[in-house]
Amino acid sequence: MRGKILIVEDEAAIREMLGLALSQAGYDCMEAADADAANARILAQVPDLVLLDWMLPGISGVDYARRLRRQKLTEHVPIIMLTARSEEDDKIKGLDSGADDYITKPFSTGELIARIKAQLRRTAPHATEQTVEVDGLTLDPSTHRVTAKGGILDLGPTEFRLLHFFMTHPERVHSRERLLNDVWGGNVYVEERTVDVHIRRLRKALTASGHDRFIQTVRGAGYRFSAQG
Ligand code: CA
Repeated sequence: MRGKILIVEDEAAIREMLGLALSQAGYDCMEAADADAANARILAQVPDLVLLDWMLPGISGVDYARRLRRQKLTEHVPIIMLTARSEEDDKIKGLDSGADDYITKPFSTGELIARIKAQLRRTAPHATEQTVEVDGLTLDPSTHRVTAKGGILDLGPTEFRLLHFFMTHPERVHSRERLLNDVWGGNVYVEERTVDVHIRRLRKALTASGHDRFIQTVRGAGYRFSAQG
């Protein structure tokens, strides 16, 4: 999976075309026809990127982008604005509102995917297929393989995703709620203590190579992945 993209566009034909093209390119797509539907989608699962149409019913894309920037859940989610307009003023207005990029209709799928990739590389490295390495621990998303000290580690699928998330978001404290959203996906009902069970399994798998010390418990807050000792 290359990343979760929320498409907010009121024109059904364009929305479906985008959903199809991005799904074929390996993205996990969610669609919304207006701001209310988009809010409901976001509450169910925070996307890695939002594609936002300039003109929506009831609220302009620019105002909606501003709102997403102010909300805690979406403040760091990159936004690419879609628009039929091409005037420089509008472009500046769009970027001022907190959008990260801007693409003018009509555009090619190839161009759109290139823009999406550029944003995700910056903000969601866990959604890319790049190999990550931290202090002798290597995770390769394309082969689903984790190696440490030359040996292959035996990890379950959830532990693999958990470790991938940790390695691409190091040195930060993640609450159990955040981990459930980003690793399990927000629309699955899982109790928070389930996180602790998988953390325990992950630590056990990392013990032989000594990397278990990287998974730190932060009392009252959650977990942190740190190679700083
Ligand atoms: Ca529209």
